[in-house]
Parts: sequence; C-alpha cells; structure tokens
Amino acid sequence: MHYCQRCDEPIVMAPSGDQAVCPVCGAAEPARRLPLFVVTGASGSGKTAVFPHLVAALPDCLVFDADWLIGPFERACEFGEVDWPALRDAWLSVAHGAAQSGRHTVLLGPYTPEQLDDLPGRRWVGELHFAVLDCADDVRTERLAARSRWRERAIDRHLAFAAQLRATIPAVVRTDDGPPERSARRVADWVRSRTG
Ligand SMILES: [Zn+2]
Repeated sequence: MHYCQRCDEPIVMAPSGDQAVCPVCGAAEPARRLPLFVVTGASGSGKTAVFPHLVAALPDCLVFDADWLIGPFERACEFGEVDWPALRDAWLSVAHGAAQSGRHTVLLGPYTPEQLDDLPGRRWVGELHFAVLDCADDVRTERLAARSRWRERAIDRHLAFAAQLRATIPAVVRTDDGPPERSARRVADWVRSRTG
C-alpha cells in the first residue's frame, strides 16, 4: 500500500517503526501502526445487536462491521467469487488508514487470527487483539432459526465454528446473559484496557 514516490519503478515500501521506508532509495514517509481489535464470533453470536452499543461506548475508536464491504466486493468480483482474503486485507488497510489519525480500529467480523496473519496488509497494523462473542448452542440455534428467510442458516456449520473460536480465543464475551448493551460494555472495557 505504500509505494515509493521517489523511485522510477513502483517499489513497495517496508514498515520500520512508525515509518514506511523504500528498500531501494531509502526514502521514508509516516506510516503509524496501532493495534487492531477484532471482535469475532460465528453467526448468531450477536455481533449485529452489539454493534451500535459498541459504537456508543467507544467514541474515540472507529468501529466497523466487516460485512459492510461485502456489497462493494461482490460488485468488484462481478464475474467470479468474492475474493475473501482480499476483503479481509481491505479491512487491514482501513485500520492502517485510521491509525494515521491516531484512531484505533475495532472490527466486528467472523474471522480467525490465522485468516489475517498471512495478508499483505498485516505488517501495516500493530498487534492483533481478538475477542469472541459467544452464546450457548441452543441460544444460537434459536437466533439463527428466527432470521429472515433470505439469510442462510447452515446451523451445524455455525455451531462448529463457534466451538472452534471458543476453544482458541481466550477473551470471551457472552451475549446470552444480559442485554447487548452489557456485552458491548465488556468489549469496550477489553479494548480500553489495551489502549490506555
Ligand atoms: Zn525509493
């Protein structure tokens, strides 16, 4: 994403501290990196319900729902499948952009750490912090069954993904023991404890 403006060829710059540095000519430009907070969860975890409350609880952060880029990516990939790694990479670019204004990004999306680690944009963000929104399997099943007819509901697959996230991500925020405001406050406390 950072290309050297001094070299005659489009040289990709490399991160060095809070700068991007050209490996050929040594030119440097500001490229601040901040930690990225990912709030993951399988379908039915309550991401959509928590979202507006998290926005309200974290006015100094930029809070995004990862689904917002699906529509534009479907149009960009009109003649083929959506390039999902490219979509995730786009969110890393957004987070890097937000960091230039000193703003932390909180991204709600059904991701795993491994899905972000290998992307080109990974080196342009700081540490990745993951929390998972979780609920009991029977609650998730009820939520998925109650969804609009147009939404897919592969319930077994979502339960399996939820189990995988539960087993691998230590920071768990429940969404089945109170209103979404309370879950959002827990997520906000988790973010603030890592941003000072
Ligand atoms: Zn250069």
